[in-house]
Amino acid sequence: MSVPTMFAIPQKLLINLGLKSAENIFYHLSPEELIKQAVEKGEGVLSDTGALVVDTGEFTGRSPKDRFIVKDELTASTIDWNDFNIPIEEKYFDLLYHKMMDYLSDKKLWIRDCYACAVPDYRLNIRVINENACCSLFAYNMFLRPEEKELKEIEIDWHLIQVPHFFADPATDGTRQKNFAILNFTKKIILIGGTQYTGEMKKAIFSILNFILPHDKGVLSMHCSANVGKNGDTAVFFGLSGTGKTTLSADPNRKLIGDDEHGWNNNSVFNFEGGCYAKTIDLRIENEPEIFKAIRPGALVENVTFLEGTHTIDFSSKKITENTRVSYPLSFISNAMHPSIGNIPKNIFLLTADAYGILPPVSKLSPGQAMYQFISGYTARVAGTEEGVNEPKPVFSACFAGPFIPLHPAQYAKMFGQKMKENQVNVWMINTGWSGGPYGIGKRMKLSYTRAIITAALEGGLDNVEYESHPVFGMMMPKECLGVPAEILNPRNTWKDKNTYDEKAKELGLKFIKNFEKFAHQADAEILAAAPVVN
Ligand code: ATP
Ligand code: MN
Repeated sequence: MSVPTMFAIPQKLLINLGLKSAENIFYHLSPEELIKQAVEKGEGVLSDTGALVVDTGEFTGRSPKDRFIVKDELTASTIDWNDFNIPIEEKYFDLLYHKMMDYLSDKKLWIRDCYACAVPDYRLNIRVINENACCSLFAYNMFLRPEEKELKEIEIDWHLIQVPHFFADPATDGTRQKNFAILNFTKKIILIGGTQYTGEMKKAIFSILNFILPHDKGVLSMHCSANVGKNGDTAVFFGLSGTGKTTLSADPNRKLIGDDEHGWNNNSVFNFEGGCYAKTIDLRIENEPEIFKAIRPGALVENVTFLEGTHTIDFSSKKITENTRVSYPLSFISNAMHPSIGNIPKNIFLLTADAYGILPPVSKLSPGQAMYQFISGYTARVAGTEEGVNEPKPVFSACFAGPFIPLHPAQYAKMFGQKMKENQVNVWMINTGWSGGPYGIGKRMKLSYTRAIITAALEGGLDNVEYESHPVFGMMMPKECLGVPAEILNPRNTWKDKNTYDEKAKELGLKFIKNFEKFAHQADAEILAAAPVVN
């Protein structure tokens, strides 16, 4: 268990953390060392392109119902307690913390110091403590990496302790089940137990930043990807899971700022993270060359299977889960910005994967419509894989970030509205979902069309074309777009039965209206006027 001496972890900090022993600690191992250990320990195997492939076990996705925030003096009146921000008493946090430390006292530990936020003013130093090597590799890939010379002096702001094989006892520990993620804003500690899904780590850090930045620093935090064109024009892409943030931001003609979490302050858009966490289901080099080529030594691929008798990843297999993922440092994308800071956005894209096939592939939004859509945070999912069940299900997630925003959505929306207006940003809505009918009848929008639409919007190709407004949703749909068949731009044209389209559009409109009821009292006339018209 040799730890390079220059990286010896300061004892003082370990004692502060309450760990009983500093033996068996691997501090700041390089990716190469972590990968070697992970393979030796049987945590994973190498693919034929040299990526580390692991199974995350029982959990292959986040578990939002098991994400708690300690309710105490600091948080009682600041957090928007809801289905995602679930309170837990401090005594349970303390209990679990001590149990966890006992559990860890005779285990090997991987510790690394990382940070979040590319702009130094907001830098948050995080000490990540893991029970295994591959999870430390995830932290290396996804968070920002301090220079070696900084490590001796580094002052840690938050601790993230992730222990997949430690389980809570719901009968005594105040949790719902044996897995949990708990954020403690007073002690500045995050505890994750009972799950090895690494996305819990990144989204826990995202959640604390979604509190700290707007609440303490006046910075808008956003669930979005971002990239920059040759003229320094920044584009940001909001959207719920699976709508295309990561895919569409990896654009060979633009520099990548980041794929998932950003801040918008007075003069920039900046990444919180140091890496990407991309979906790999059906990944193909022709469609997503940048992501495909990132599957190489250093990348951590989760829950994929190999083609039989090989170490070639079968990206089409959903055998373990549909949510197969890869994490890699930003530098694996050939044209990543460094540092990941861009100008204030010129274009904002609200991405939705509308499985009802109602929303247009591209539309331009007025400021009122932009606010309405931002607050609504709409996408649709295809429900279950049960036989015969293929009804889409609407998802409304405020600010496209419901599970990750500890404050009331109105606080983010207000900042979003001010910034959008002050900077006269173009706001577009993009449906990366279904065309020609709902899921089961229509087809998912071709990725090449969506890419062409985004390029056109960014390069002014939609500035001087004719538009028509959508009869229910009101947004303006261009009648032509380079690289896209004109007949698909108005979704009604793609449906066989136009009457059914009209009917279904109204049905979806009603769902928006119903969802918006809870925000209506806080919205001004301009926003309310952007509601769908259903009669
Ligand atoms: P998460 O928040 O979970 O990371 P995300 O918004 O980053 O989600 P992506 O990882 O970009 O979502 O996933 C979009 C998926 O949809 C990819 O697998 C992509 O290949 C697929 N896809 C199919 N058609 C399109 C399209 N027209 N536009 C964008 N993505 C598409
Ligand atoms: Mn993503």
